[in-house]
Amino acid sequence: MVGFTQAIHRGLTADHGGSVDFVPRVVAHMDLDAFFAAVEVRDDPALAGRPLVIGGDPAGRGVVSTASYEARRFGIRSAMPAAEARRRCPEAIFLRPDMPRYRERSRQVWSLVRAEVPVLEQVGIDEGYIDLYRAVWTSGGARRFLARLQQTVRKETGLDASFGCGTCKTVAKIASDADKPQGVVVVPAGGEAAFLAPRPLRALPGIGPVTGERLARAGLATIGDLAVLDDDALADLLPAAHGVELRARACDWTTTPSGPCSPPRTAWSCVTAHADGTRARWTRRRAPRCR
Ligand SMILES: [Mg+2]
Repeated sequence: MVGFTQAIHRGLTADHGGSVDFVPRVVAHMDLDAFFAAVEVRDDPALAGRPLVIGGDPAGRGVVSTASYEARRFGIRSAMPAAEARRRCPEAIFLRPDMPRYRERSRQVWSLVRAEVPVLEQVGIDEGYIDLYRAVWTSGGARRFLARLQQTVRKETGLDASFGCGTCKTVAKIASDADKPQGVVVVPAGGEAAFLAPRPLRALPGIGPVTGERLARAGLATIGDLAVLDDDALADLLPAAHGVELRARACDWTTTPSGPCSPPRTAWSCVTAHADGTRARWTRRRAPRCR
């Protein structure tokens, strides 16, 4: 019997022997690293290694769009007032965003991804989900496939990307942020709750500043803290529907809704590869619903 984890990591071929009667969805999230700043550095290598802030006017009410990793060492973050960024690092270089140029670079990256993965869902100029169901079967597993894609993007565009991979979009997104920059983090099927539990609550999509603050005041720090809340404690903290959905994301990935970047939910999910390698029996079973 080949387990879920091995199926994801190695892909599956008949000569593995044994059988798999269920293969989970495999979705990856790609996030370009410090994208606006990275484009500026690529186009002007003299900026490399300098603290770089892309955003509004630091003399006015501008906010930071993107900070290079060198600028982040000074505590500069996206959405921070640019004036605050300048206080933290007066020697930082401040540039206004050049969206047409960023969009052009983004198109180059996504056309490279699209050449490798037919099913994808771009959700921002520098991020999106890619369906790896086919890739794990044909390219020796998700990790190898993503590492190769990461190299291709770097070689062709000079830009770095981080990837997270798992059985659902929530896990994939959090995983892509777990080892930035240039990360490739694959969360095996069945390992979702263990991966999520120690992460800070704010990493969970749907927890904004207000909700995050309310949960922090109640002593909750990690996704795992939210996952183990009982119904009464949850109802005390958050409006019912919102709380239930967030807790589901934190602990029960199978109940969250399916997103567009999904293979058909009913037709593809099962294959039985027989030990003798002579025939494979394809069956139909409902895949987990997962976001
Ligand atoms: Mg990004």
